Amino acid sequence: MSAGATVSLARELRGIVGEDGVLTGAATAPYETDATASRGLRGVPDAVVVPSSAEEVAELVAFACARGVALVPRGGGTGLAGGAVPVEGGVVVSLERLGGVHELTPEAWRLSVGAGVTTATVRRLARENGLFFPPDPGAAEQSHIGGNVATNAGGPHAFKYGNTGTWVTGIEAVVPPGEVVRVGGDQRKDVGGYDIKSLLVGSEGTLGIITAVTLRLLPAPEALLPIVAFFADAESGCAAVAEVIANGIEAAALDFLDGPSLEVVRGAYPEAVPDDAGFVLISEVDGPAEEAARQAAELQACVAETAIRTDTPVPAEVWRWRDGVSGAMSGARGGKVSEDIFVPLPRLADAIRGVHEIGAELDLPTGTWGHAGDGNLHASFLIDPSDPAQLDRANGAADRLFTLAIDLGGGVTGEHGIGWVKRGQLARQWTEGAIVLHEQIKRSFDPANVLNPGKKVARL
Ligand SMILES: Cc1cc2nc3c(=O)[nH]c(=O)nc-3n(C[C@H](O)[C@H](O)[C@H](O)COP(=O)(O)OP(=O)(O)OC[C@H]3O[C@@H](n4cnc5c(N)ncnc54)[C@H](O)[C@@H]3O)c2cc1C
Repeated sequence: MSAGATVSLARELRGIVGEDGVLTGAATAPYETDATASRGLRGVPDAVVVPSSAEEVAELVAFACARGVALVPRGGGTGLAGGAVPVEGGVVVSLERLGGVHELTPEAWRLSVGAGVTTATVRRLARENGLFFPPDPGAAEQSHIGGNVATNAGGPHAFKYGNTGTWVTGIEAVVPPGEVVRVGGDQRKDVGGYDIKSLLVGSEGTLGIITAVTLRLLPAPEALLPIVAFFADAESGCAAVAEVIANGIEAAALDFLDGPSLEVVRGAYPEAVPDDAGFVLISEVDGPAEEAARQAAELQACVAETAIRTDTPVPAEVWRWRDGVSGAMSGARGGKVSEDIFVPLPRLADAIRGVHEIGAELDLPTGTWGHAGDGNLHASFLIDPSDPAQLDRANGAADRLFTLAIDLGGGVTGEHGIGWVKRGQLARQWTEGAIVLHEQIKRSFDPANVLNPGKKVARL
């Protein structure tokens, strides 16, 4: 876009969101990228706007539809698929000012908040009222609930509790040509129409701009009992995961780190890590104290048969340690290309082995970690981002990774979404009919293709 066109676009946008609702100069720099920055993804927005109400968002969408201007919705910018990056320009619409708590009814286990409230705030509000919001994606202090809904984010406790969408009972969103719609709400039952709420969940800013959500909460579990088990290798660790599930033990979380991932955070574990550990299972059992203690004892006995050592650490300490893995992996070489493939549980060890084979063939250090119980791996190829040859090889590795996941009976993303970096990949995984439906749904919400164009496309 020419300098003159940018100035006149900013003037028109100020007419909608006010003088301070349009960011300029250095203030726009943070909106050029998201958590894919370390793999080199960046885009220069034509403008960045920070609307203060759903009505302003509606005016923005109406303006975009009338003028054919692309909008790139943005939450906390922690996405790992490049969905909030203005790769091809466009107006970034940051929902950060929609941060209000609309209604909290602890007695009904319900919370309605603006899309810009952080995940950590939602979890804290629930906790302060004796309740519990289970989704726990790893960048909770920065990510927004709107972004979590838009990506259908998971996290360690998705094993027992499901991804974010499981906890959404209502959505307020702006859809083309500039209408505020409300689907669902705080009621417990509502099956009348097509499930538009679920279409918006995971839509990655391509069907509507989410301005508020109503969430279902749960009474807080009385006990949280983590068990960490170290194994010699991925084969024995993955077999133990399968045993836990087959024995009917209802774990809340069954996460893992493979050997190379364990290596980068070894020093930060609260105790000394056994020298010969090549895989660690980070599990947790929750619930009423007595029942949780019984299940925890069963889980520990089950994994102890093949583990090198089992620990029962303090919950906050072990999850803080686990949350540090992604950053530590990026820091090991300066950057990483990381994809969140999923595979059937019995193929988890094959997937981990396959990731290492790809890394070895392309001469890239690798590490995998993630949500073992869900068969969801964060397979990472470590790079020096200043070396274009490494980045090229890592992108090639990611492509082979998708083939591996699909060949093993899984798919290309378990929780991070398609965004920009996996655009076109669904075509490998889906039938033609499903792809056509996907495209028709996009057209019926957004016929002018102004909402996050180029993102979440099923085929190129
Ligand atoms: C250290 C780290 C750990 C992570 N761990 C996990 C994890 O365990 N599980 C997991 O699932 N993810 C994880 N993530 C990825 C990321 O935090 C999630 O995808 C999160 O849900 C993104 O939320 P956000 O607010 O940052 O969204 P953004 O990155 O800003 O946007 C993500 C996508 O959602 C769209 N979007 C955002 N807000 C809205 C809105 N209000 N309306 C419409 N569309 C919108 C954007 O256009 C984009 O397509 C992790 C990321 C990091 C950096």
